[in-house]
Amino acid sequence: MEIELFKDPNLAVTYHGVLKKDCSLGSINWLGVGGNCDWLYQPKSYSDLAHFLNHLADEIPYFVLGAGSNLIVRDGGYRGLVIRLGREFTSIRCKNNRVYAKAFAKDSQIATKAAENGIDLTFLRTIPGTIGGAVKMNAGCYGAYLADHLLRVTMVNRTGEIYSLSAEELRFSYRSSSIPEDAIILEVELQGEREDSPKLLARIETYVDQRNHTQPTGTKTAGSTFRNPSGCSSKLGQNEKTDRLAWKLIDDAGLRGVRIGDAQVSKKHSNFLVNLGNATAAQVENLGEMVRREVFKKHGVLLEWEIIRIGELVYPENSRSLN
Ligand SMILES: Cc1cc2nc3c(=O)[nH]c(=O)nc-3n(C[C@H](O)[C@H](O)[C@H](O)COP(=O)(O)OP(=O)(O)OC[C@H]3O[C@@H](n4cnc5c(N)ncnc54)[C@H](O)[C@@H]3O)c2cc1C
Repeated sequence: MEIELFKDPNLAVTYHGVLKKDCSLGSINWLGVGGNCDWLYQPKSYSDLAHFLNHLADEIPYFVLGAGSNLIVRDGGYRGLVIRLGREFTSIRCKNNRVYAKAFAKDSQIATKAAENGIDLTFLRTIPGTIGGAVKMNAGCYGAYLADHLLRVTMVNRTGEIYSLSAEELRFSYRSSSIPEDAIILEVELQGEREDSPKLLARIETYVDQRNHTQPTGTKTAGSTFRNPSGCSSKLGQNEKTDRLAWKLIDDAGLRGVRIGDAQVSKKHSNFLVNLGNATAAQVENLGEMVRREVFKKHGVLLEWEIIRIGELVYPENSRSLN
């Protein structure tokens, strides 16, 4: 039986943007794995999205996809609607020490535009996601976290209501936020320290070099796989002890370079899992679970997934999942 996307099947809901059925997600996430979703919707404007959500049937789950740089989509795909804001939501505007960005703007482009305008959001340059994903995940690096620079977020909820919250009204912790599950971030207001533009652009170059030197940046990956057990925040991050860092625990368990099929614990950074070419989502996830088991055996520490995993598992005939 065909599942109806909208509440009232007799009402012809008009919407702008692109709605596709049975759409591949493997081609639009960084790891390059995963099955199809039932529907993919790319709205044209805020009001389109609000209207669409307002008519969406209550039983249809939805997932908001940014750049897919922190994500494993399982091989069975996602049963429901994936919403991807797309290029209509990428504008970035700078004024004084403030940056106003729509949610699908890339972190790297925000960092560069801010630097050209003498605003320091340089840490964002090497995070490969969108700013919507960065707020949701409280992304950070080089001692700076998104929450430290956030002033305001505009969102839309499942009923199609558009609303705005200040950073103080939201709670952020290490790699997480209290952004409600049904909220789709539309726009953010950020602030950064004012500094000379050439200095900021030079810092960006240093960060890019550093990143390319230490992480598998040119590969199919989803970034850091596990949270650091030290639970570092922007403040604690300065005093992190290396024995509580996920990569060190994985390294000491002898897992650097270990493979399941085409999924590998990166040789360059052991908290990254990489797809060497034709890995399945199951191989990547099972490799992650193996790492968790081995680290627990060696150190008594159970690593917690940082990467978001969505969708359905596929069990090949005559095989047993490691989960
Ligand atoms: C090479 C590499 C390096 C990385 N380095 C870092 C790093 O240094 N620091 C760091 O913190 N992360 C890092 N990451 C992880 C990742 O880039 C960040 O978590 C990023 O913020 C995710 O953004 P995204 O747009 O790709 O989100 P996605 O992966 O698409 O989604 C992540 C989560 O955000 C939600 N989301 C996305 N957009 C929206 C929206 N508009 N509204 C509501 N929810 C939304 C999704 O539903 C999901 O829950 C790295 C990843 C890679 C591949």
